[in-house]
Amino acid sequence: MIKTIGIIGAGQMGNGIAHVGALSGFDIKLLDIDPDALQKAIQVIDRNMDRQVKRSIVSEPDRSAALGRIETGTDYALFGDCDIVIEAATEDEAVKVKVLESLVPNLRDDAMVASNTSSISITRLAASTDRPERFIGMHFMNPVPMMNLVEIIRGLGTSEETYQEVKTLAEKMGKTVAMAEDFPAFIVNRILLPMINEAIYTLYEGVGNVDAIDTGMKLGANHPMGPLELADFIGLDTCLAVMQVLYDGLADTKYRPCPLLVKYVEAGWLGRKTGRGFYDYGSDKPVPTR
Ligand code: NAD
Repeated sequence: MIKTIGIIGAGQMGNGIAHVGALSGFDIKLLDIDPDALQKAIQVIDRNMDRQVKRSIVSEPDRSAALGRIETGTDYALFGDCDIVIEAATEDEAVKVKVLESLVPNLRDDAMVASNTSSISITRLAASTDRPERFIGMHFMNPVPMMNLVEIIRGLGTSEETYQEVKTLAEKMGKTVAMAEDFPAFIVNRILLPMINEAIYTLYEGVGNVDAIDTGMKLGANHPMGPLELADFIGLDTCLAVMQVLYDGLADTKYRPCPLLVKYVEAGWLGRKTGRGFYDYGSDKPVPTR
């Protein structure tokens, strides 16, 4: 039975997984290469739980108990007693492989490893570890405390036992599971990201401006967020990385990342997390940048 969960990467996904895991009663060990990211993650979790207390979704004692269950650090020895470690570092295969290589020697023999990757092959990531049968994809949605889905991806070597244990874990975290086979970007992002990329092409070709595209899809297709707003929310670097994985992995030109997306990423305009993307977040109301 899983009691202790390790998390690698304390960015928007890592802190969300830590938040939900701690509130679900698990002990959490959260690691990042950057100590500032860890400090920021605790502040974000604290603030988000505070909001849940104000809305009577979480009680004050549950909040303080959950915060007390989160331990942070930069040394992989932190994971020595974890039943499972969820990797949620930057969406870059080289980074993830390096992280997994540092992780494995610090794990218990029976510990499982999950990756929160949005698109990268679970089978290939598993092959860089000593335990492909205990390796799986556990793809949480952003923001983790709000979104009910966890997509679970079985690699070629993932055992049935690992799948069942991780499915139970996701359910204990209050989530519903959709099972996907291990093909580039799985189910949700295979469908969602080409739509976002097409919205960026629509902007690039001058069919509409940022406001018209997002208003069009919100009111015309009943989407809760416009595709460009959503791209900024996901992070434009992550969007580009997923499109690149689809393009390379399926070898079909229909997945070609829009050059305008590439340009925004090259400028460091990564969306909300850097304060600017298709919108500028410097004032109260986001202002379109095109
Ligand atoms: P992010 O940029 O907010 O956070 C990434 C974190 O990883 C940063 O804190 C960074 O310091 C850390 N990191 C980088 N290299 C590291 C290393 N070598 N060792 C330890 N930590 C390292 O990114 P995010 O949006 O949280 O995405 C993380 C993962 O979750 C990615 O694989 C992404 O594809 C996936 N994901 C993202 C979303 C989304 O909407 N953003 C949704 C589902 C899954």
